[in-house]
Amino acid sequence: MDFKASFDNTFARLPDAFFTRVTPTPVKAPRLLAFNFDLAKELGIETGDADGLAAIFGGNEVPQNATPLAQLYAGHQFGNYTAKLGDGRAILLGEVLDSNGIRRDIQLKGAGRTPYSRGGDGRAWLGPVLREYVMSEAMHALGIPTTRALAAVATGEDIYREIALPGAVLTRVATSHLRVGSFQVFAHRAQVEELAQLTAYAIARHDPEAEGPMDLLRAVCARQAELVAAWMSVGFIHGVMNTDNCSISGETIDYGPCAFMDDFHMGRVFSSIDRQGRYAFGNQPNMAIWNMAQFATALLQQMDDKDSAVDEATAIIHAMPDQIEAAWLERFAAKIGIAAPREGDTVLVQNLLDLMQKDGADFTNTFRALGTDSARDQFSDRDAFDVWARAHQLRIAQEPDAPAVMAAANPAVIPRNHRMEQMIQAAVAGDMAPFERLMKALATPYVETDAELSKPPAPSEVIPATFCGT
Ligand code: AMP
Ligand code: MG
Repeated sequence: MDFKASFDNTFARLPDAFFTRVTPTPVKAPRLLAFNFDLAKELGIETGDADGLAAIFGGNEVPQNATPLAQLYAGHQFGNYTAKLGDGRAILLGEVLDSNGIRRDIQLKGAGRTPYSRGGDGRAWLGPVLREYVMSEAMHALGIPTTRALAAVATGEDIYREIALPGAVLTRVATSHLRVGSFQVFAHRAQVEELAQLTAYAIARHDPEAEGPMDLLRAVCARQAELVAAWMSVGFIHGVMNTDNCSISGETIDYGPCAFMDDFHMGRVFSSIDRQGRYAFGNQPNMAIWNMAQFATALLQQMDDKDSAVDEATAIIHAMPDQIEAAWLERFAAKIGIAAPREGDTVLVQNLLDLMQKDGADFTNTFRALGTDSARDQFSDRDAFDVWARAHQLRIAQEPDAPAVMAAANPAVIPRNHRMEQMIQAAVAGDMAPFERLMKALATPYVETDAELSKPPAPSEVIPATFCGT
């Protein structure tokens, strides 16, 4: 049985303005490092053997009926508009309909240069490829919308990032790769016809019930509000919420400098290039709203009755803080055992977070341990924690399902930075065992299966900064 996927490529049928056709650049010695057979099944893919998969997902063979292309987009990066970004190292192979009838993109990342590569080599190295593989699959298992990882292939070639590093290609699956920046590029160039075409395409693909651009805006804002609350509920810091990394599908996309935090702090930043803390943990709601304001601005360019559309868009954006607040409360109330939050619960959650921040309590383990003595051990000011715990006890006395609610909202294991770093170092040395171990434990994050992986880093293991990995 050979590889087979039933491609049906709607994006490739759009006009040339949206993309450039380009084939992946073959690599020296493709070798399959990881493959997501469950996801392949969901996508209706017949896999064939490992060598065949390595040839396809390393970019050496273009599968039948694929129409490889690089997408055009622009974007605000750290608040500054860059007029032309596009897939500089990503190549969309095509789309398939999954077992639920949902259209999914299959995209290679690190597959060679494209017309949008600018100075880049179009490649990725093994570290960020495996990092995204583990992170995105962990995010999925946590129940948070995300792009998925289908394959990781070693290229057998060195690439240069100050030093020589082993090259790799990641295959990413998304319900689409349309980003805010995909719309911005046409809005900024005043290409209203293309903007309207892309909007119609996005509506058909993601929000078929939407009756126009403002309905699309409303739907995307709702998804972003849910997403940012979900990230925060697991201590996730995206790190590079630029508008080109903001998917209109509401999936988490671009696992460059992201990280799950260990000890809690609202201002936590990992990305080495985020010097102002623009994308700090606690600033993510603001940035999601900022991104949606850019999306609104772009969509508005196509509206005939500008005045009333501006009013409508403004109202949609202004509704976001309350939407995020509600989604945040839903998530964090569940983390302390409350299924249906009511007034006063925000303060209860906030008081706990304040204590955690003051004492540098471990985010994941504190929530997971609530109701046991080991929660108390996370705090140096135990009296203060005891006061909070009594208030908490009183409140959840009215919540019959509290233990089950908490167990379903508080993961036992997350992909901790130091474990990811150890995994990458081992993989570079040819040892995939730490990768396999992480993948196994993170597949069922709400069940503790590997206690070692739940431990925070020892002081000598702490990884204070992450890098984009380009
Ligand atoms: P990112 O930081 O991954 O969101 O990428 C920002 C932009 O830089 C996108 O247009 C990428 O396609 C492009 N890019 C990142 N790394 C490379 C690379 N190694 N070669 C070419 N383009 C790249
Ligand atoms: Mg990106």
